Amino acid sequence: MLFKRGNMRKKIIAANWKMNKDINETSDFISAFNTEMKDIDCPIEVVVCPPFTALYVAAKNLQESQVRLGAQNLHFEDDGAFTGEVSARMLQSLGVAYVIVGHSERRQYFGETDEVVAKKVKKALSSNLKVILCAGETLSERDGGVTEKVLERQVKAALGGLTAQDMANLVIAYEPIWAIGTGRNATPQQAEEAHAFIRSVVAEMFDRDVAAALTIQYGGSVKPDNAAQLLSQPDVDGALVGGASLKADSFAKIVKSCPFGKTA
Ligand code: PEP
Repeated sequence: MLFKRGNMRKKIIAANWKMNKDINETSDFISAFNTEMKDIDCPIEVVVCPPFTALYVAAKNLQESQVRLGAQNLHFEDDGAFTGEVSARMLQSLGVAYVIVGHSERRQYFGETDEVVAKKVKKALSSNLKVILCAGETLSERDGGVTEKVLERQVKAALGGLTAQDMANLVIAYEPIWAIGTGRNATPQQAEEAHAFIRSVVAEMFDRDVAAALTIQYGGSVKPDNAAQLLSQPDVDGALVGGASLKADSFAKIVKSCPFGKTA
């Protein structure tokens, strides 16, 4: 299926710090990264997603910067007796623009089901937070030839009931679980195939325009030395970066490897 508006899509590279960095390390990263970003000349949105405890400090340090702030999770209720949880409104009050939803570590270690992920997506969007929705298959699912089935299930469950307008505030991150934190990235061809498939599912659910405009990031062992190749694929519109986003120079190298050109 051909989606002609690919060059118009927003390109986004996001850092997922997971459970790393205290407030001092966060300040140090951001001052180093702000310096690195001064000479960047690429039409790309850069997002940093620190842990909850560092969001306030990160927001203060990013005030003069183009870099946007993201959170790694939220709860789907507005408030109440949910010990240890954080609501959409709390994130908004910190200046958070994006929230990652449905990361495989949340699904795997914290029991997040497709149903919970769908509730979180809806809550985030209705609270004016942009969503980075993660989807991806395990190694045994890939080896068993069910990658597309898994992606279709995850995407349809998370996006069911959304409007085309909602979709303008949502990004999908294709993150094959076997590539996360393993040093083994998907090949550019594997990434492209999965992204094109996800786009076709979105076209079926909404329409070709919504699918053509959707930013789809690749995540899974993106590093400075493989980023350009992955990002050069026609349906790869950015990256969600874990380990290699923890050092300002390494994350900056990934951002700078941006092959999108000035008119993307
Ligand atoms: C992630 O957890 O979103 C991720 C892509 O991690 P890594 O880059 O370390 O594989």
